[in-house]
Amino acid sequence: MKTNTTPNARLIKRSLSSVWHPCSQMKHYASFPLVPISRGQGAWLYDFDGNKYLDTVSSWWVNLFGHCNPRINEAIRSQLETLEHVMLAGFTHEPVVELSERLRELAPEGLGHCFYGSDGASATEIALKMSAHYWRNSGKPAKTQFLSLENSYHGETLGALSVTDVALFRDAYGPLIRQQATVASPDSRNAAEGESSQAFALRCADALELHLQRHHTQIAAFIIEPLVQGAAGMAMYHPVYLQRARQLCDQYAVHLIADEIAVGMGRTGTMFACEQGGISPDFLLLSKGITGGYLPLSIVMTTESIYQEFYADKIAHGFLHSHSYTGNPLACRAALATLDIFASDNIVVANRQKSSYLNGIAEDLRGMPAVKNWRNTGMIWAFEVDSPHADFAQRCFQLALKHELLLRPMGNTVYFMPPYILSNAEIQHLLKCTRLVVEALA
Ligand SMILES: *Cc1c(COP(=O)(O)O)cnc(C)c1O
Repeated sequence: MKTNTTPNARLIKRSLSSVWHPCSQMKHYASFPLVPISRGQGAWLYDFDGNKYLDTVSSWWVNLFGHCNPRINEAIRSQLETLEHVMLAGFTHEPVVELSERLRELAPEGLGHCFYGSDGASATEIALKMSAHYWRNSGKPAKTQFLSLENSYHGETLGALSVTDVALFRDAYGPLIRQQATVASPDSRNAAEGESSQAFALRCADALELHLQRHHTQIAAFIIEPLVQGAAGMAMYHPVYLQRARQLCDQYAVHLIADEIAVGMGRTGTMFACEQGGISPDFLLLSKGITGGYLPLSIVMTTESIYQEFYADKIAHGFLHSHSYTGNPLACRAALATLDIFASDNIVVANRQKSSYLNGIAEDLRGMPAVKNWRNTGMIWAFEVDSPHADFAQRCFQLALKHELLLRPMGNTVYFMPPYILSNAEIQHLLKCTRLVVEALA
């Protein structure tokens, strides 16, 4: 951005005067400029001035198979010629039916009913409402509280914020939110000296048990991000916690909501993270990667017994929630094309090879004195950087761009959550340039 007159600079100027950007203090863009993107191809994003960036954060954790993926493009294009949208109340269409059937086959046992929303936060809202409404329909109207983990993130609409424990997103809206309880996160970084991540997870499950013992008559559901708490800074934990959470929720008649919006769709090394605990939740939330990162779509999958509690003559016993774009055919087609790629390219297995390739050549980065808590689950990597800079995240972002890399740290936590199509050469580029950035900021 050398002068005011490059195509990049012109678009930045127009954007700042008309677009209110998300998750941003707009004033900061005066010192840390926006990055205008003209096009995407594979794992790369291109600006208007001839620069390119490796999208290691999958454009906010949504992209799975690269930008402008020919197969997903073609699926959307052909759907576009048939039906772009129809309302889903009182109507149905092939893409939404096919997607629901295929997800039922793929998901953990027993999740046979799909309710559709438009984004992740709406999926959280739907699950919370459905859970409380279930208890009301079944004669337990006192069960209206929700329990979540410390440092949880489930979206930022008011209901979702009530189960989101990230102060920065939440504090300004405290008076608007119905306060909900949290229990200790099994985040392995908090294990005691010499304590295994499994032992620590079990200790946290004991705290969960104590809480449920005392409060279960008021609690409708326990909501978790299985295996990795993304917005907490890619906090990873042992799958035994999922197993114990499932047992305890059964024991105390509390629904278990698995928010797999970020960790589903192969991200943690299995199609769904819950598989690694060998469990089925009562509600499974999907969004982000479900359309390969193309279109907004979210899905709440639930069980026959929950579905049946709403199935009655009385209209008020039904689940009357709706969004205008519920089950949009274009988004469903993108999701179907995404599932096709998983099947035809055996992605879950291919990702294991990719993941182990990266791990095998990461020693130079991982071994740097400034790099702490190196961790990996499936296609997510994270570590903290010991840096004297209070604005480490912004500096890291800026400097990475100069190395053709899109890194977007959360505080001092640097993470990689790349699309699944990275080549070995791109993985080498990612590690080499991250090392240069860390070296400069340590
Ligand atoms: C991103 C995310 C959400 C919210 O999804 P949006 O589409 O941004 O509303 C909810 N839960 C988790 C775990 C997420 O990562």
